[in-house]
Amino acid sequence: MQTRMLIDGELVAGEGEALAVIDPASGEPIAQVNEASPEQVDAAARAADEAFQTFSKTTPAERCALLLDIADVIAAHAPELAALESANAGKPWPSALDDEMPLTLDSFRFFAGAARTLSGVAAGEYVAGHTSLIRRDPLGPVAAIAPWNYPLMMAAWKLAAPLAAGCTVVLKPSETTPLSTLRLAELLQDVVPRGVVNVINGKGASVGDRLVNAPGMEGVSITGSPATGAAALRAASRQLRQVHLELGGKAPVIVYADADVDRLVATLRATAFFNAGQDCAQPCRLLVADAIYDRVVAELAAAVGSIRTGAPREAGTQMGPLISEAHRQRVAGFVERARGRAEVVAGGFAEDRPGFFYRPTLVANVDNDAEIATCEVFGPVVSVSRFGADEDPVAIANAGRYGLASSVWTRDGARAMAVTSRLRYGFTWVNTHGVATPEMPWAAMKGSGHGCDMSVFALEAYTAVRHVMFAHGELP
Ligand code: NAD
Repeated sequence: MQTRMLIDGELVAGEGEALAVIDPASGEPIAQVNEASPEQVDAAARAADEAFQTFSKTTPAERCALLLDIADVIAAHAPELAALESANAGKPWPSALDDEMPLTLDSFRFFAGAARTLSGVAAGEYVAGHTSLIRRDPLGPVAAIAPWNYPLMMAAWKLAAPLAAGCTVVLKPSETTPLSTLRLAELLQDVVPRGVVNVINGKGASVGDRLVNAPGMEGVSITGSPATGAAALRAASRQLRQVHLELGGKAPVIVYADADVDRLVATLRATAFFNAGQDCAQPCRLLVADAIYDRVVAELAAAVGSIRTGAPREAGTQMGPLISEAHRQRVAGFVERARGRAEVVAGGFAEDRPGFFYRPTLVANVDNDAEIATCEVFGPVVSVSRFGADEDPVAIANAGRYGLASSVWTRDGARAMAVTSRLRYGFTWVNTHGVATPEMPWAAMKGSGHGCDMSVFALEAYTAVRHVMFAHGELP
């Protein structure tokens, strides 16, 4: 198994602490990967800084070709990469290949095209005798930090946009799920110029912290928890760096009385428990109109109860385990604390089998201010609350600290338009949830961070706006 890191074009073993990588479906170790030493973190940052001097001068067409090459090498090894992902993160097979790989590939292909759309603004005379023009230049070397829930797809999001913009990258995958990213690093060794992409492994408190503080980094890009986002902002405040944050979420699902309940239930069964609910956009907080509340709870409880859990390669598995025992206990803690004030109508217990399985869970009659309605559980747990004719579900949803995903369910187009305009979330689906495409931003607001992944807006985030002014003067 490939466990080396990519630093300045060389594959090197980590010289720091050995970290066990665990199969969450069995609880057994599947690999041991060493952390980067402090010197290796610094070497990766230096390599990115040096490579930036030449890579930032490449043309958009050259970067487009590079991104297409990256997509091709991933496509050629897609089953192998997805198998690593499935084993390391407990994702059902072949969902890891069929559901996640297409977006991973398409992210590189989209940014290959997007690289060629970057342009400045037409020149003009804003001061007499002077011509101004606007340039958009690459920001600089980027420290990119990825989470464990979609390791390879998050690596794609962390790499494709900055590379398209002309930035070099030092990427740190989660120490929990480094295997697919380390194999990608090996594949990229022959594709990407030396130092343009560097991949290092290690824990957040050691390697991640050193990376976001490393000299030479101009951008810090985090996908992770709010605590990690805050750590990056603290580092950036010392070093005065640009920070790009995609953090946690708590997606409200506002269901009006005229909603298509069959479609709602089928969508939630598929998306709320996808990846065992470990998804920042998970539709996890239902606000349901009084008139259809009982029907929604009954039909959803039946649907949730029918989800088949199992190991990734077990026939019929629809949902795998949680990522770790510590995370399972965290998820169970939310459900246990909710029991006193709410009703667990499906699931609500750890499964008695090896690995970190937790039953898909539905908690009903939840108060709007309850912990389980307002905090990110990040597991296979959905809460349901009701709203009456005199209550405004948009105001209830907006009171939450998070601002990532949301959805609205109604057959009334005018109402959908009015409600979506008032929601303070980076993205809102109407009569669906969880559908993503690289053309559209995965946008964060409020406590979920700022900026976005995917789309031309992500590309712009890795560029600096520059003004250049020419004095006309007298020709000699
Ligand atoms: P996490 O914050 O614990 O870890 C994320 C990454 O940050 C890991 O690589 C970790 O090693 C690193 N890290 C931790 N502390 C650090 C520090 N002090 N300095 C630098 N790096 C540090 O998050 P996680 O548990 O891996 O992932 C789950 C979280 O990620 C959830 O909150 C989820 O909502 C969020 N997430 C958000 C998006 C999005 O697009 N907004 C996508 C996926 C996951």
